[in-house]
Amino acid sequence: MAAPAPLLHPDSDPSFAELLALRPQLRMDPLAGLMMEEVPLARIAAAVGTPTWVYSANTLRRRLATLQSALDDARLGAQVHFAVKANPNLAVLRTLGEAGAGADVVSEGELRAARAAGIPASHIVFSGVGKTLAEIRLALAEDIQQINAESAEEVEMISAVATAMGRTARVALRVNPDVDAKTHAKITTGKSENKFGIAIGDAPALYARMATLPGIQPIGVAVHIGSQITAGVSAYRTAYGHLADLVRALRAQGLPVERVDCGGGLGIPYRDEPAPHPAALAGAIQATLGNLGVELMVEPGRWIAGPAGVLLASVILQKQGAERRFVVLDAAMNDLVRPAMYEAWHGIVPVTPADFVAAVAPADVVGPICESGDTFARNRGLPPLEPGSLVAFLDAGAYGAAMSSTYNNRPLAAEVLVDGDRFAVVRERQTQDALLAGQRLPDWFAA
Ligand SMILES: *Cc1c(COP(=O)(O)O)cnc(C)c1O
Repeated sequence: MAAPAPLLHPDSDPSFAELLALRPQLRMDPLAGLMMEEVPLARIAAAVGTPTWVYSANTLRRRLATLQSALDDARLGAQVHFAVKANPNLAVLRTLGEAGAGADVVSEGELRAARAAGIPASHIVFSGVGKTLAEIRLALAEDIQQINAESAEEVEMISAVATAMGRTARVALRVNPDVDAKTHAKITTGKSENKFGIAIGDAPALYARMATLPGIQPIGVAVHIGSQITAGVSAYRTAYGHLADLVRALRAQGLPVERVDCGGGLGIPYRDEPAPHPAALAGAIQATLGNLGVELMVEPGRWIAGPAGVLLASVILQKQGAERRFVVLDAAMNDLVRPAMYEAWHGIVPVTPADFVAAVAPADVVGPICESGDTFARNRGLPPLEPGSLVAFLDAGAYGAAMSSTYNNRPLAAEVLVDGDRFAVVRERQTQDALLAGQRLPDWFAA
């Protein structure tokens, strides 16, 4: 009996065509190859080189609009604050800001980026478990919409800074609802063991204290239970239910609650996993917080930006190892860290029409970095790929460039925005000189 043919992924990955069918911003043109909107990705690679991040402006707009209309259909009147940490590129922020998004920021750098992109301070919320005094000062100087406080200690810090500046900070209390969002451990944030927020049982006393502190206007409550939530919306519903109970309890104490910040975390299908539609999230909000007469906000990052971006890379060489074929790319874990960090699966699609239709065989897709963790995919069905062949990593618009490093002294990759038939470099590739800039040899070294 003949040996069975070597298997691809045990439960068979989607084909290239199946991956593209779910991503309308991408299509395979029989002549021009893989296109984003009306621009061939090969043209961008020729002009800008690789590795390069490429973002679709119309996908950013379309996804923001889809989310906003799901919230509007549920009559929530909720504001969308894009989580800047997912993609802090100024052109991305500008695109979303022009389309009506506010920003959720977690650092001085993100606050400055949101303002530089033209997002008004009145649409900016500052979250994060460890804001420095300087960051609190900047937030107050800019008079941003809201600061989400995550501890009693931080509430005291905000009060002291605001009082010294003669300002009043609008503060929402981020609570930890102790629910399991059923996502990767590194991006679960709403369990009691996590560092985020204050225990929901401690919230009433702290909120009451906030109301007595100078420089603080208690504005509401906030929650964010984790990222890449795909296991339905029941964890959201549970968390929001706890939040609604808290709002009622605070009001029963005579405390004002004007706003509820519902956080982000809505997941996307990277491979073919089911993921909730924003309408389901809107339904969970409606069912729990809909009748409280509060202003609502949501803070999605990945759901808006993830599918809007690809990472374009070139094959350096194919290497036949002792047991497997390795496709070695010019992109590496310093560029896209998600596979190494979260065991994440990204679609990897050839860019040329010939590669797209050629027969596939298993390969491991790796970068050149000196770590075995620098592996993007194992046993992936790919055609033979000659040196110089282009591939695109799908769904790389969130937590892609944002999480890049210069590990192995590799310069940060370029970023490009596509809008219809136009494209522009929106972040230059870091130069080798820039990589060394800022370093000094102490003067005790001989000249
Ligand atoms: C990371 C984060 C978000 C966005 O998470 P996504 O999974 O990208 O939607 C929103 N709010 C806060 C406080 C965050 O830390």
